[in-house]
Amino acid sequence: MAARILDGQALATRLQVDIIPEVQAFIGRHGRPPGLAIVLVGHDPASEVYVRSKVRTASAIGFRVDLERLPATAALGDLFTLVDRLNLSEAHDGILVQSPLPAAMGPEAEPQVFDRLLPAKDVDGFSPHNVGLLVQNRASVVSGTPAGVVELLEWEGVPIAGQRAVVIGRSDIVGKPLAMLLLHRHATVTICHSRTSDLAAVCREADILVAAVGRPGLVTPAFVKPGAVVVDVGINRITDWAQVEGLFGAGHPRLAQFQRKGSLLVGDVHPGVGAVAAALTPVPGGVGPLTVAMLMRNTLVAARARLERQPAGAGRQHP
Ligand code: NAD
Repeated sequence: MAARILDGQALATRLQVDIIPEVQAFIGRHGRPPGLAIVLVGHDPASEVYVRSKVRTASAIGFRVDLERLPATAALGDLFTLVDRLNLSEAHDGILVQSPLPAAMGPEAEPQVFDRLLPAKDVDGFSPHNVGLLVQNRASVVSGTPAGVVELLEWEGVPIAGQRAVVIGRSDIVGKPLAMLLLHRHATVTICHSRTSDLAAVCREADILVAAVGRPGLVTPAFVKPGAVVVDVGINRITDWAQVEGLFGAGHPRLAQFQRKGSLLVGDVHPGVGAVAAALTPVPGGVGPLTVAMLMRNTLVAARARLERQPAGAGRQHP
């Protein structure tokens, strides 16, 4: 039987509609909307797409959103100066610095920028302070992609407590925080990575399998226990016809899509997994839209915390 599709786009749309009255109420109380600053350094094509989507959504729900651009040649010091200004800005409740930063800024640029961000305005949840709160299960702001994955699983009624969850990928922005969120919801969690031996065998243990790697088709049916729930976080743009045909097989409708556009967005999960899994997130239209929806929620949470001194997240107890 074909896997049920977990429709992240539908949930994201609903979350965005639901937040509008809350934004209106905030404006009524404070005479201004929640303010989000998005910092984009350079012109990375994927970042341009992501940032456009964030600006569009933030405007649509009634936020003030300011896109602050720096040239690809900017020095790290210029970025610090901008972050310092936004940290002090009364109008901005949230600051997001779009990854990746230009390679010329050096490998330590991103962590240094996250160190510099005021934790109260860090709506991506990447600053060490907010990561620490996440580990202690008392975060009020959690990075959008992992938060979106959990939101989708809960919305779809997928049980988490007591289940075996395997997360492939150990990045600071997806794999590690997602593993924490699943752990806090009482899953038994395994994190896999580029040096995991016999990856397929570990993944076959999973009731919930999450792929966050960035390799098209890595997760084949051989990785999936029949009836598992599979979440595909990967976003890969492929431009090679042979690769598309190899993934989807001759005659698949997505081949026609490739021919029209010249490229295709695919996840890390092989299309064949749909015949083995109980449920599966699509790419596009799965986790991606939820990342943006969660960012909006984080910005509202940050704005309330700043202006209304609302306490940080209460945190769940987990004996
Ligand atoms: P990353 O490159 O920082 O991390 C990739 C991880 O995959 C690493 O931990 C690495 O150890 C692991 N890995 C690499 N090759 C592997 C292999 N052969 N077997 C097992 N593990 C392997 O990437 P990231 O920033 O975590 O992003 C992962 C994917 O998720 C990318 O495709 C990215 O575009 C996508 N992404 C999507 C969203 C969204 O909104 N849906 C958000 C962020 C990232």
